[in-house]
Amino acid sequence: MVVQLLACTPDAEDVVAAAAQLCYSASSISQILERGRSKKKALLEKIVSAGHFSVLEHASFTFGVEDISRACSHQLVRHRLASFSQQSQRYVSVVEKFGSVTPESISSHPDFRDRYAEFIRETQEFYREMLAAGIPAEDARFVLPNAVGTKLVMTMNARELHHFFRLRCCYRAQWEIRDMALEMLRLVRRKAPLLFADAGPGCLAGDCPEGAMSCGRMEQVREEFRQL
Ligand SMILES: Cc1cc2nc3c(=O)[nH]c(=O)nc-3n(C[C@H](O)[C@H](O)[C@H](O)COP(=O)(O)OP(=O)(O)OC[C@H]3O[C@@H](n4cnc5c(N)ncnc54)[C@H](O)[C@@H]3O)c2cc1C
Repeated sequence: MVVQLLACTPDAEDVVAAAAQLCYSASSISQILERGRSKKKALLEKIVSAGHFSVLEHASFTFGVEDISRACSHQLVRHRLASFSQQSQRYVSVVEKFGSVTPESISSHPDFRDRYAEFIRETQEFYREMLAAGIPAEDARFVLPNAVGTKLVMTMNARELHHFFRLRCCYRAQWEIRDMALEMLRLVRRKAPLLFADAGPGCLAGDCPEGAMSCGRMEQVREEFRQL
């Protein structure tokens, strides 16, 4: 899996802090921006603790993601407030580079590791044969499994990212999308540490929201995200 931060709002923290301050100030935006820089940290902490989340929507982040499975991307695109551009299986036949993802539970399993690899190889062959016989890529792709690799560009604003991290950094999330969410969080924390200081699974902010399904490791999880 490759996750890159391709672009983001320049001075994202300053913009969000100015937007928050503007709501309560008679000063001009330039004055607010200038003054805001010095008290940005306190202001952003206050915004987040007060739940004034709409101002986070002024900062957006664009990621490039490669070598994830279609199983992962299918979960990803359920996040309706994000924008996506995903490699098409209609216009791009995956003959050249038939990437696929193998879960660790399978690659480490003595009985299934080889059968899985064989299944992927046979599927690839079948797919290629159909294309060679003139079946359009949009139809030949019906045999491709969830394991097949994909790539996409995705944009989320900081509010949606907080929501995404709450759901997808949790141990209840599927491992591949969780790995991806963790990498995204590392990247945005480096870029805008104040905006994402407390971002992560739901249990960072209080009780685990998963109830009976909780992993029961809240202390360990909180420590993990302090160290991230
Ligand atoms: C552990 C886990 C297990 C899951 N299992 C399943 C499953 O078995 N089956 C399944 O189908 N899905 C499953 N999902 C996906 C889940 O149901 C959501 O579709 C996905 O997490 C996106 O969440 P969302 O709708 O909150 O986020 P987004 O689409 O990113 O939306 C963000 C927020 O905006 C608001 N919003 C967005 N659109 C609307 C709208 N139309 N109306 C009102 N408010 C809106 C909501 O407050 C929403 O929380 C699972 C997710 C997780 C994390």
